[in-house]
Amino acid sequence: MMRNLLYIDGALVEPARGGFLAVNDPATGDCFALAAAATEADVDAAVAAARHAFDHGPWPRMPAAQRAVVLRRVAGAIRTDLEELANLEMRDNGKPLKEARGDIADAAYCFDYYADLAEQVEAEGEATHDVGDERFHCRVRKEPLGVVGAITPWNFPLLMAAWKVAPALAAGCCVVLKPSELCPLTCGALAHYLHEAGLPAGAFNLLTGTGPDAGVPLSMHAGVDKLAFTGSQATGTRVMQAAAPDIRNVSLELGGKSPFIVFADCDLDKAVEWIQFGVFWNQGQICSATSRLLVERPIYEALLARLVAAAQRILIGPGDLDGVQMGPIVSDAQRRRVLEGIERGRADGARLVSGGCSPPQLMRGYFVQPTIFADVPLDSWIWREEVFGPVLCVRPFDTEAEAVAVANDSRFGLAGAVMSADLERCERVAKALRAGVVWINCSQPTFTQLPWGGYKASGIGRELGRHGYEAYLEVKQITRFDANADWNWYQPAAVE
Ligand code: NAD
Repeated sequence: MMRNLLYIDGALVEPARGGFLAVNDPATGDCFALAAAATEADVDAAVAAARHAFDHGPWPRMPAAQRAVVLRRVAGAIRTDLEELANLEMRDNGKPLKEARGDIADAAYCFDYYADLAEQVEAEGEATHDVGDERFHCRVRKEPLGVVGAITPWNFPLLMAAWKVAPALAAGCCVVLKPSELCPLTCGALAHYLHEAGLPAGAFNLLTGTGPDAGVPLSMHAGVDKLAFTGSQATGTRVMQAAAPDIRNVSLELGGKSPFIVFADCDLDKAVEWIQFGVFWNQGQICSATSRLLVERPIYEALLARLVAAAQRILIGPGDLDGVQMGPIVSDAQRRRVLEGIERGRADGARLVSGGCSPPQLMRGYFVQPTIFADVPLDSWIWREEVFGPVLCVRPFDTEAEAVAVANDSRFGLAGAVMSADLERCERVAKALRAGVVWINCSQPTFTQLPWGGYKASGIGRELGRHGYEAYLEVKQITRFDANADWNWYQPAAVE
């Protein structure tokens, strides 16, 4: 059985307390691998290694072009092993193989992208500023922020790690990564690729382990300069609290309950496809899932009927089954949470029109049918809270203003989508939505080049694109006064 160790200071190490966590295949429930369970002593060792690598090692001090060589080697190695990694991700997380391949390819691209960006930003050099007084020579430089504690979730295990590790390393930071205990395996592979690519010891460290035993001590560690967290709002709050006493930098990518507004003039077939992709892709375990669907009343029943028919055609099964479109939920606990959410929806008076339980033919493993609720009350739990599973909530609306108001009536603001043949209307709605990502006539396509993150309780800061690189840089102004000039502040005032 596969037995993944910790990676600290350039070496694979046994966990200090000797514990290992079982890694289960969600399609069967069987344990197929073990991952080291890091505890506080391992966290201390990993942070000390990263601290030393940052304060004294070569990584933050080398030209960006040299760091880029290492990152490009990692991208190449991920691509070479794409099939193997996709299979591992599928087995660990449950997602269909086709989706796993896409995630792994995106992770490789992320390393290439930040290799290029690091070179580009360094080539831009320091910005000089004219402050209107020629005695001052002022410039702004960017420096790597320091030691980054990266804590990631299980829904896109390697990709969520890449979104943090690639820009942080490209910027010259040193990283301690704590992936989710539910899906830690591909991050183990990442440690191997970084090592083989020639990354100096300590610049990257991997701590597999649980939130309480590894995540908490990492988030509280005074040796960490920045916490980069992706996960639930509840954990994000704790991470922010842990960073607060020392005023350490945080970026938070949290949950959502994103709206999709569909107007009556849209193409119904296209609407059905994007609505499904927006909420059923990755078994609905998507932070930006457009899980609140608002449909203009004239097409409400017709669209619902098509959505139900389409949901019932989705092929559910193990991720490696040919043609499978929906795999199992990541864990038994998460499946139970999703089913409890569905029960709450029923109890709150939402009309269940499709799905609602585990498929009878798939009782082994953690499967849940794609589920659709219509006429969902605005104040119900299922309309307001993230289910993080394949559950779509639908409501009709009568006016654009009403749709926007209902869409924005959420404590979250990660994403939103709008579909209409009228592009001016789409633009108006896109501007009115209080969310960090808005899709017009689609839902979910995500690009490494563009900023990703949420308004309101969906987070702080942005990943991806240039914003996701700047998140790992400190900004320093250097102001030089002309040594030959006079300041004359304390000259005695002239006596009249
Ligand atoms: P989670 O909050 O349970 O766990 C996330 C990570 O935090 C895991 O590695 C976990 O071990 C660790 N952790 C748990 N408790 C901790 C603590 N007290 N201190 C420090 N670390 C701790 O989230 P999850 O269930 O793994 O992921 C699902 C959530 O992630 C959803 O809410 C989803 O919306 C969100 N998510 C957001 C984005 C985004 O980009 N905004 C992307 C993916 C997932």
